[in-house]
Amino acid sequence: MTQPIRLSSDTETRPSAAMREAIAAAVVGDEQKGKDPTVNELQERVAELLGTERALWFPGGTMCNFVALKVHTDPADALLADWMSHVVRAESGGLAFSSGLILETIPTERGIFDISQLRSALERLGTVPPPYGPRPRLLCVEQTHNIAGGTVWPEEQLRDVADFAHERGMAVHMDGARLLNASVAAGVSPAVFTRAVDSVWIDFTKGLGAPVGAVLAGSERFIDEARRYKHVFGGAMRQAGIVAAACLYALDHNVERLAEDHTHAQALAAGLTTMPGIAVRNPEPETNMVYFDASSTGATNSAFVEVLGARGVEVSEVYGGIRAVTHLDISAEDIHRTLAVVAKSAAEIAELTTPPEHD
Ligand SMILES: *Cc1c(COP(=O)(O)O)cnc(C)c1O
Repeated sequence: MTQPIRLSSDTETRPSAAMREAIAAAVVGDEQKGKDPTVNELQERVAELLGTERALWFPGGTMCNFVALKVHTDPADALLADWMSHVVRAESGGLAFSSGLILETIPTERGIFDISQLRSALERLGTVPPPYGPRPRLLCVEQTHNIAGGTVWPEEQLRDVADFAHERGMAVHMDGARLLNASVAAGVSPAVFTRAVDSVWIDFTKGLGAPVGAVLAGSERFIDEARRYKHVFGGAMRQAGIVAAACLYALDHNVERLAEDHTHAQALAAGLTTMPGIAVRNPEPETNMVYFDASSTGATNSAFVEVLGARGVEVSEVYGGIRAVTHLDISAEDIHRTLAVVAKSAAEIAELTTPPEHD
């Protein structure tokens, strides 16, 4: 049987044979005690890549966000973030659970905002002067922005917004799950994007293709505190080098090639744009995500997702849209096949749902 084309997320990658060899050969120790040489090497590599003093291994990205929020804030402080950011929409309300934060969201179209939008959010929050109004303490930016379609913060705008937040006494945290996609797409080194922020993490289980792991980075002081909270949350591991080896492999082999995923996403969007009944929300994807709408075919988006799934093309429904994400297990041929399946499905559904014409 042919394998399904797994476009529902870039977390759908499977470790390659070469990555599994790197895993098998890993030299390991006790990560919890700071004695796993493979984890230590990965941490050093990431700190260098992101231009920070230190970096710390984590089991996953959500815990990096949790811990960063915890280190930067006290209970009842306010977190400011784009209204559709992952930390707001997709982490089980963790910002209230672990850090006791209140939230002031910034409504945007593309997940990216400017100083005037940030200023308005601060004004909404601070209508009542201190000590009555909650204290704005942390700004979170998402690079690339997932729900907005893999959009990239331009470096200059990021710096302006971060500088403004700093002037207002806030720290700035970057959810950089796909920072390396942004870096490859923009041709800007990741350390340039991170210059303006106080903490950042990258995910190894998205486009980089590793099975487990994320690394949080920042100043020495920040990472010392982060290590404590990582332990509190149960994130300290033992022979984690067994999976960190896959992350090192990914850094060596799977970063530059992210450009291919972006080319595939562009080809997918371009093909979908020509199809009757299909409306592409981001016809010119900046990175590896395409969002589209199939409701003009006569089927709901969820029904359309089901039909494609039954025909071997897995996509997902995300906040009302259909999302297709390219990654290292998706080839140009898979994009071709996907376009053929979507075209056929859209045409068949349109025919079934169009009422017959009467004279
Ligand atoms: C996937 C993702 C996360 C969470 O990372 P996990 O490793 O799945 O816990 C956080 N932020 C963004 C933008 C993501 O895409």
